[in-house]
Amino acid sequence: MRKRQLSRLKIFLNMYPYNLLELDTAAPNEPDARILIIYTGGTFGMGVDKHGSLKPFDFSEILHEIPSLKSFNLIIKVLEFVKPVDSSDINPGHWIEMGQIIKRFYDSFDGFVILHGTDTMAYSASALSFILENLTKPVIFTGAQLPVTAPRTDAGDNFVTAIEIASERDESGKPVVSEVCIYFNHHLIRGNRAQKVESMHFDVFESANYPPLAKAGVEIDYKYQFIKSFGREGTLGVADKLDDNVTFLKLFPGISENVVKSILKNPDLKGVVLETFGSGNAPMEHWFLSAVSEAVGNGLLIYNVSQCLGGKVIQGRYETSMALKDAGVISGKDITSEAAITKMMYLLGMEKRMDSIRNKLKLSLKGELSE
Ligand code: ASP
Repeated sequence: MRKRQLSRLKIFLNMYPYNLLELDTAAPNEPDARILIIYTGGTFGMGVDKHGSLKPFDFSEILHEIPSLKSFNLIIKVLEFVKPVDSSDINPGHWIEMGQIIKRFYDSFDGFVILHGTDTMAYSASALSFILENLTKPVIFTGAQLPVTAPRTDAGDNFVTAIEIASERDESGKPVVSEVCIYFNHHLIRGNRAQKVESMHFDVFESANYPPLAKAGVEIDYKYQFIKSFGREGTLGVADKLDDNVTFLKLFPGISENVVKSILKNPDLKGVVLETFGSGNAPMEHWFLSAVSEAVGNGLLIYNVSQCLGGKVIQGRYETSMALKDAGVISGKDITSEAAITKMMYLLGMEKRMDSIRNKLKLSLKGELSE
């Protein structure tokens, strides 16, 4: 069978080599839009070899697996990592790289679809929402629970609909969506509100504290009142430094003084996402509160995020959270843990002044929390 690709060009951008493929779609003279697919890896792109084991799939076969792509009046190019990665191996270097790819191709494309493993997709989508400054075009993450080659795969719908959303314009020609989002299992959600909540079924992601931006049924039903634009016309910026001197500290009844202190006293640590109970509560024990206030006094940023998916942190609602507030812990309100840790990495990487970082942690930068 003829390979449905016009070209496969090996290119080097920054850290990694890529193949650039052009898919043989309707080959329109006047395409409705130009879409760049960035294929990073994950289950989506797995194929099954003759022994039944999963191995990376040849992306140039995508039109064979999802023939409906051919009917799009779009120009679709694919930039694939030469070595696709399982998303457990994604790191901040990949996020900056994805941002730089988008910047490099920003003027040549109307929308971007990032194919990514689901395991850390919510982290990557959160990180990209912060590092892309002045974004006015859609960046839609998607992937699949079953490989594109599997008979009951969810890859086709996720991929085709993500492309459709990335190419959608309103009457004035502006993109309908110009945020970093995740499209999965018929729902479009804001990337920095997403959490992976399911590993076996198709409803992988949830946005517990912000409504979906669209639901895809017979039509794609956009919820215009919830879709925001965080960019102004002008040049796209990409933050190029993320500080990884951050960690999570998840509380549980019985957490020991030794463990808490060994984390909070780490001299390299600059930021901690403190995963608290309920609406932001923590133990009242003297050793705990004095360890927290001493760490804050030494310049450590502590961001209070609830272990509950829904609801929000209200420091001061209970005595058990009032003490955190008094110690200088910053409320994350209804932010997800994924958005909180990547927001800290971004702010610590890009901002010099601690008072400005503290202030920005309290505010919504890209719709990641409700003020
Ligand atoms: N382990 C895979 C990954 O995150 C799972 C998936 O793609 O859904 O890369």
